[in-house]
Amino acid sequence: MKLIFAKSVEGRRGLRLPASDVPAAELPQELLREQSAELPEVSELDALRHFTLLGRQNMGVDTNFYPLGSCTMKYNPKINERLAALPGFTELHPMLAQLPEGEQYCQGALALLYECEKLLAQACGFADSTLQPMAGANGELTAIMMFAAYLKSKGETRRKVMLIPDSAHGTNPASAAVAGFTCREIASNEEGDLDIEELKKALNDEVAGIMLTTPNTLGFYNSSVAEVVALVHQAGGLAYCDGANLNAILGRIRPGDLGFDAMHINTHKTLSTPHGGGGPGSGPVCVAARLLPFLPQPKVHKNAEGLYSLSEDAPQSIGYIAPYYGNFSIIVRAYAYMLMCGGNGFQRISENAVLSANYVRERLAPWYEQKYERSCMHECVLSASRQSALGVNALDIAKALLDRGFHAPTIYFPLIVPEALMIEPTETESKQTLDEFCEAMIAIAKLAEENPEELKKAPLSTPVGRLDEVTAARQPLLRV
Ligand SMILES: *Cc1c(COP(=O)(O)O)cnc(C)c1O
Repeated sequence: MKLIFAKSVEGRRGLRLPASDVPAAELPQELLREQSAELPEVSELDALRHFTLLGRQNMGVDTNFYPLGSCTMKYNPKINERLAALPGFTELHPMLAQLPEGEQYCQGALALLYECEKLLAQACGFADSTLQPMAGANGELTAIMMFAAYLKSKGETRRKVMLIPDSAHGTNPASAAVAGFTCREIASNEEGDLDIEELKKALNDEVAGIMLTTPNTLGFYNSSVAEVVALVHQAGGLAYCDGANLNAILGRIRPGDLGFDAMHINTHKTLSTPHGGGGPGSGPVCVAARLLPFLPQPKVHKNAEGLYSLSEDAPQSIGYIAPYYGNFSIIVRAYAYMLMCGGNGFQRISENAVLSANYVRERLAPWYEQKYERSCMHECVLSASRQSALGVNALDIAKALLDRGFHAPTIYFPLIVPEALMIEPTETESKQTLDEFCEAMIAIAKLAEENPEELKKAPLSTPVGRLDEVTAARQPLLRV
């Protein structure tokens, strides 16, 4: 496909503005361009076709099954889009609530933020939440900064070590490091859970806390979570729940009830807001009572008359995390989705997500190795180790799935499973789709035995074939 620059024809216009009805102002000389900006000159139709065709080359949840483990690529109901597009939301100025008397013109938006914070806190068993963080990783950082502020307020500044299991998402150590902590890895045991004996050895008066993904990134629920949290608390540390896998326990387990001090929620995973291509997402953080004074500011307050306002009156707050109030339109979508599901709906989401993952796991068990043979939660981690002995690795299987109309699962993560294929079907896929996917995976496993070379050529049906990664890294072609 040609770049839009290659479609440019000198003088062609997509838009013509009416003649100005005010006198032209002279721009200062230093602001004027010396050369043309070289923007593509195309008609409205050229631009429309270009982007429509480009969009069709993509694989997305709206076009294909997308079992990308750890990412919860569920269907995003279109009603969320309708509500987020209401002019009362989209036409608000982001500074309105901060202007004198401005709050009266955005009571609806403030009410939505307030209610959404309370709903999330209630659903996860915490005292309150903040909607500011822009993504899961940003939520982790926010929470760990609150941990740091809390420890400082208690004079516990020697606590500089954050414990992180070896199965954790890479954002966990990154967030802890950015917040000023050093990370210590805790090994998993033979069942794929955090090893409690290893944890006990690591606990001392320098430990600031633990970051525990629940259920973990292998898709396992560790029945000793409450014990782990209690051990860390006894040692004077705080416990953080990486809540990216909330889809597995929604409506059934509240991490706050397990004793966690804070957790983040990926709205773009669990709460069905658009995800992919780098954003926009949102990573609200829930906190237990002892962290309330440290929540980011401003916060929405509701007075005795039921009027909402933004307040910055919290001297111990860690301050602003994101401009304005985070990704407001994503929050509108998450709020609409939560109201649509209700408590009972939440429970059915997690039940069906877990059922789907176990169905896929069972169907594929005769064909793909599993490092840990136990039932899973919302995702299952298979290994292509048997196929790799035949010369076909996880990457080849991922590419072969594209030719069969499926987005690839997550591969080579978690790092503790060799040739990992991490499959998360989510609750929004039908049994027919799951069956078609399993049949494609089985056909690929058979092909790996019969004709492994064939799989090395995949994908053949996509707009772009397999990239020559070495050449791309050594001789990148960054301009045309
Ligand atoms: C997705 C994910 C994150 C990071 O979330 P982003 O919104 O991508 O920043 C952190 N932890 C786990 C376990 C995840 O799956």
